Amino acid sequence: MTPYLLTPGPLTTSARTKESMLRDWGSWDGDFNQITARLREGLLRIVHGEGTHECVPLQGSGTFAVEAAIGTLVPRNGHVLVPVNGAYCQRIAKICKVLGRKLTTFEYAEDAQVRPEDIDRLLAKDPSITHVALVHCETSTGILNPLHEIALVAQKHGKGLIVDAMSSFGALEIDARRTPFDAVIAASGKCLEGVPGIGFVLARREALQASEGNCHSLAMDLYDQWVYMGKTTQWRFTPPTHVVAALDSALTQYFEEGGLAARGGAYQRNCKALVEGMAKLGLRSFLPPEIQAPIIVTFHAPDDPKYEFKQFYNAVKARGYILYPGKLTTVETFRVGCMGQLGERGMEGAVEAVRDVLHAMGIRTQAAEAVL
Ligand SMILES: *Cc1c(COP(=O)(O)O)cnc(C)c1O
Repeated sequence: MTPYLLTPGPLTTSARTKESMLRDWGSWDGDFNQITARLREGLLRIVHGEGTHECVPLQGSGTFAVEAAIGTLVPRNGHVLVPVNGAYCQRIAKICKVLGRKLTTFEYAEDAQVRPEDIDRLLAKDPSITHVALVHCETSTGILNPLHEIALVAQKHGKGLIVDAMSSFGALEIDARRTPFDAVIAASGKCLEGVPGIGFVLARREALQASEGNCHSLAMDLYDQWVYMGKTTQWRFTPPTHVVAALDSALTQYFEEGGLAARGGAYQRNCKALVEGMAKLGLRSFLPPEIQAPIIVTFHAPDDPKYEFKQFYNAVKARGYILYPGKLTTVETFRVGCMGQLGERGMEGAVEAVRDVLHAMGIRTQAAEAVL
């Protein structure tokens, strides 16, 4: 048995999604191009962006799509404000630097949400800022940032908003009819439960139309990709055909299961079972529940000298579950994803595996005596 992936992408996909990759497609073939068209339309439907927004898929991991969105939508003399409360925000800041876009960052602690009133003040203070780039769910901790409120602030100031919604898209609501944005970016191997290999950008049509010539790069130019796809129904350059077919299958299953409400609900239940189950084992989550997104949970490592992440990880893996290391610099943590197919025993199975491993390693936690 391959272990379940409790990681925020790649994650464990359904058998049907895996099976969808057992056939080869020609990238010029009409049947494949129909898949691409259906995919773009379905992705747009998730944010209710039909008629107002455009879906531009791009080969590569999620970061490729983030870099492409910044490079395409922010003019070369643009100025990006990046509120930072985790590693993925820092990555956006680094992209701006590498691309030579003027950058202003505003730093928060890793357990503090981005505050709309700060964005309001910063935009009022510096009118040269053209865009705000926000991470919706900061996967490095699992914190949720208040996208809707920040979108309204950006709109009030007439600024573009670029959203890295990589780990929230499809599970947490983003509605283009009420939340204004220039771009929402996500990828195939996250909450939609496809396999990794493509990212996509849902861009406001006027913003995309105005972006011709902005991009520093040929392959990362979303404007060019969009125009080419519009003309030919094909991808510019070879698409990862199996990944596209898998995402199409995953998306069909997503809609069959009830779309965003069902996916978000399932992750919410996973998250609750995880946090409650781990609490019973004496493992505390890093974030308070009010700001915790139901996507990935950061736990404090057990405060016991016998704990060592790699050994803990390997033992939990031997019991069928792959955990994720922590990404915090200040405290020792590990992370557990709430996404993906978790099998019949669900999250309870994962919590049991952790319990057995703590016991086998002789690790004591605050609640250990009561439970083990
Ligand atoms: C996964 C993820 C990305 C993309 O990371 P890749 O390693 O390029 O797939 C970007 N932002 C967030 C918030 C993510 O969770």
